[in-house]
Amino acid sequence: MMYSGFMSIMFQPEFKECPLCGSRLVKNYNTNEKTITTLNGKLVCWERVLKCRNKGCKGNSMSFHSAEYKGLALPSMNFGIDVVAHEGGLRFEEHKTIDEVLEDLQEYGIHTNRATVSKHSDKYLALISGYQKEKIKEIRQGLAKQGGYVLQIDGTVSVRTKTLYIFRDNISDTILYSALTGNDTDDVKPLVQYISDNFGQPLAVVSDMQKSIIESVAEVFPGVPHQYCQYHFLKNVGNAILSEKHQQLGTLIRDKEIKKEIEKVQKEVEIEKKITR
Ligand SMILES: [Zn+2]
Repeated sequence: MMYSGFMSIMFQPEFKECPLCGSRLVKNYNTNEKTITTLNGKLVCWERVLKCRNKGCKGNSMSFHSAEYKGLALPSMNFGIDVVAHEGGLRFEEHKTIDEVLEDLQEYGIHTNRATVSKHSDKYLALISGYQKEKIKEIRQGLAKQGGYVLQIDGTVSVRTKTLYIFRDNISDTILYSALTGNDTDDVKPLVQYISDNFGQPLAVVSDMQKSIIESVAEVFPGVPHQYCQYHFLKNVGNAILSEKHQQLGTLIRDKEIKKEIEKVQKEVEIEKKITR
């Protein structure tokens, strides 16, 4: 599916309640419009950033973001993470030259230059090698000062048979870790364990509904609220999937018992995706 022309999309946090105290989240501020270039076209989007309404709560001075919006691109980038991963795959898996990458991107309607592709290559290499591992101590101090962190796990972009997993703090939009690995729980759990070892337990987790992520989080962070969301735009399923049923899934799920039901719905989502294509 290609996005028809320019769609302006407003994103809001998937969390409706404060992960610290359970109070309702209210508007903190609106961001400016930003254009993100994805493999499926350009998205014009902006975000309503929320905070906790409870003035006695630390969440009142925090900014809660839409995981889907943040997951579209790396911090301060205007190209989608799908573009960066696609270019990385071409360059480092298929050993294409920068000029060949530029030519390939034109097939997606993306016209850019060698310097940009080169910059993206550096980002990609940083992503597949853990991303700013040297800054762990500094990041950990920042998270502590902030009063904790909300772990966002993005696993929406594939490079050949592997998936690029990106872990970030949803509040400060800081990348904590990333890796290119397989899709099984055995692949993902060590990454979540790494987050636990280095950054401690998060206030909450937000991710899409991948079985491997759901299981890994339940095992490494038992009892931590886990919010699921659909990453419509990078997953290329568009608006067709925004049915009532999927909105209901956005309610906060705290119970591990519900895992089975999620898997059932996951299958339904797969089927619907096929139908809507
Ligand atoms: Zn609160």
